[in-house]
Amino acid sequence: MTYFAGFDVGGTRLKYGLVDADLKRVHQNSRATPDSGRALLNLLRELWSGLIREAPGDIRAAGLGLPGLFSRRERRVLQSPNCPAVENLAIAPELEGFMDVPFHLDNEANFAAYGEYRAGAGRGGGSLVMLTIGTGIGTGIVLDGRIWRGACGYAGELGHAPVNPQGIPCRCGSRGCLETEVSASRIVENYLAGRDEPEPPTAREVHRRAERGDPAAREAFRTAGRFLGLGIATVVNLLNPERIVLGGGVMNAHDLLLPPALEEAALRSYRGAFDGCTIHKAELGNDAGFMGAAAWARDALVRKRAPAAAKGEPE
Ligand SMILES: [Zn+2]
Repeated sequence: MTYFAGFDVGGTRLKYGLVDADLKRVHQNSRATPDSGRALLNLLRELWSGLIREAPGDIRAAGLGLPGLFSRRERRVLQSPNCPAVENLAIAPELEGFMDVPFHLDNEANFAAYGEYRAGAGRGGGSLVMLTIGTGIGTGIVLDGRIWRGACGYAGELGHAPVNPQGIPCRCGSRGCLETEVSASRIVENYLAGRDEPEPPTAREVHRRAERGDPAAREAFRTAGRFLGLGIATVVNLLNPERIVLGGGVMNAHDLLLPPALEEAALRSYRGAFDGCTIHKAELGNDAGFMGAAAWARDALVRKRAPAAAKGEPE
């Protein structure tokens, strides 16, 4: 039996694991993400040695997802507001120093989408777009079985689609982006608008209040849900995907967010495209990233062995 390793470097946790050729998990764990690039590289080296020891057979390939704007050409992360340790880190040559198998680097949201596509809510389906909604919005696009990365690797920044021209400034330099309107913190701000609370509640607390029937809390989710619907309509009209998968912490409130989101998306998309698309909750949770990295590593190896099936396309 052969095995594939996946790593998912997040802003706070580094998740990693091993899957077999059928993508069954045989090992998984997580560590705190170190706060310097050197410490991160040392940790990866240590985890890799551990996986080699743990694996019941040969590890044939590995994938590693990184947070932020990943340049395919330079094989490094150019910008990463949530994880400065990876910014401009020359990770590929370091990995080449101790990993003696093919490895693949990509943006973590791309690998999360691929994980759901292969082993989660997208299993058995065709094209898929995944949105991970938390403090920001990560987007991964899988078209005809391949991750769609765009010309330089920066595709899938739906979080920065402008949905509200009057919205608040976004960290990307624009304003009224999807992620400024649908994030956990925005839901709290929606709730606090026009209220005087000495201690602002957390998003989780606003969720609890909404579940108990607090009308202002319900409206805070409804407003965010309608903006999410605009994002979904944009995806549906642009790509006509078979599935949209929604994940991330904010989706714990899917019962409050999804009804207004779907209502708005139906109003704003072409009927045929909307009817042909199903919307799913993500299934793999925080494991999607490392699972997708490992699945991509497996599939890239299969394509390399059968170039005719891959039509000679570059990876
Ligand atoms: Zn933005």
